[in-house]
Amino acid sequence: MKSFDNTVKPYDVELSYGRGAILFDKKGKKYIDLLAGVAVNLLGYNNEKINKAILHQIKRYIHSSRWFYNENQEKLAKKISAVTGAKGVYFVNSGAEANEVAIKFARKWGLLKKNGAYKIITFKNSFHGRTIAALTATGQEKFHKYLHPLSPGFVYAEFNNLLDVEKNIDDEVCAILFEPIQAEGGVWVAEKDFLKGLEKLCKEKNILLITDEVQTGLGRTGKIFAYQHYDIVPDIITAGKGLGGGLPLSGVIVNDKIFSILENGDHGTTMGGNPVACAAGNAVFDIISKKNFLKQVKEKADYFIKKLKEIKSSKIKEIRGIGLLIGIELNENASKYVEIGLQNGIILNSVKPTIIRIVPPLVISKKEIDKAVKIIKEMLK
Ligand code: PLP
Repeated sequence: MKSFDNTVKPYDVELSYGRGAILFDKKGKKYIDLLAGVAVNLLGYNNEKINKAILHQIKRYIHSSRWFYNENQEKLAKKISAVTGAKGVYFVNSGAEANEVAIKFARKWGLLKKNGAYKIITFKNSFHGRTIAALTATGQEKFHKYLHPLSPGFVYAEFNNLLDVEKNIDDEVCAILFEPIQAEGGVWVAEKDFLKGLEKLCKEKNILLITDEVQTGLGRTGKIFAYQHYDIVPDIITAGKGLGGGLPLSGVIVNDKIFSILENGDHGTTMGGNPVACAAGNAVFDIISKKNFLKQVKEKADYFIKKLKEIKSSKIKEIRGIGLLIGIELNENASKYVEIGLQNGIILNSVKPTIIRIVPPLVISKKEIDKAVKIIKEMLK
């Protein structure tokens, strides 16, 4: 008997411990981590403040239920509201669940406030998670093929194509759900005019604007949330991944309009907003909100992209991204470079056949960036 996961092909590496952006395996080999547990470990490994916050809460109590006041949840919600202007945060467990809840809230809003409007426009090539509604929202056929019948009421428009969105709007549309950067889809960045246009359309047609910031949020792009680069204000923001400092935690961040829609029993989750995960979340948020934290993320990101662009290789087609969410599109298959990278001491990831995604801990140093770029350069010679 063994635990199994036939959905991934694991690497032949057993990790031992980590410090900052560095991981060590059981044989003592060192890796520069450019994956960060899939964009989760924002502050790297063994962050003292996160560890301390977790231990402190563990000694009080690990879990209660949603019927008891959770001080850590309240504190975190306040901090998130302060940077977004949101009215409230509903805490759940994963990115997919946060999107499920956002979909439920949008549908209830449509039912009560827009004559039963229920359709949600999402985008081709998007990714919103693996539960059924979140997966249906995901605009990629490859994730749908074994799961029919899917959840009804989703319409897919072309990303960065406002005319195509307009074409798909009718009276039954209650929400538009988008990622500011389609990360899993290959690191495709939304254009400013496109998101400004979406916001305008939503206002004109009385449609909710929902941004999925599960991967782009919490400082990854040099702002707390990536939508803040675009001078827009969404009605709902979903956040996850690094929110719990590596523990399962996600949040549905809502404005006034949605907050008043929610009533007793409209959603439930046994573990969501767990006090230990929220304790870690407070530590994460305190650090990423510090005065110079985002500035140094931006500086390092600019440096990383500049260094990557200096690599002259016919194998590279394009380098793109915002902040420390970087895509290297190759003229050839990317997956072999993940394996070669591991052998050479960097942890990489490919999101599409030809695209390498780089999402390191935000605390990676310039020296580590230099080392990683040197290895990438060698690989792509
Ligand atoms: N939304 C986006 C934009 C994501 O990138 C992901 C995961 O990669 C999810 C949702 C799903 O998150 P989770 O795996 O925590 O359910």
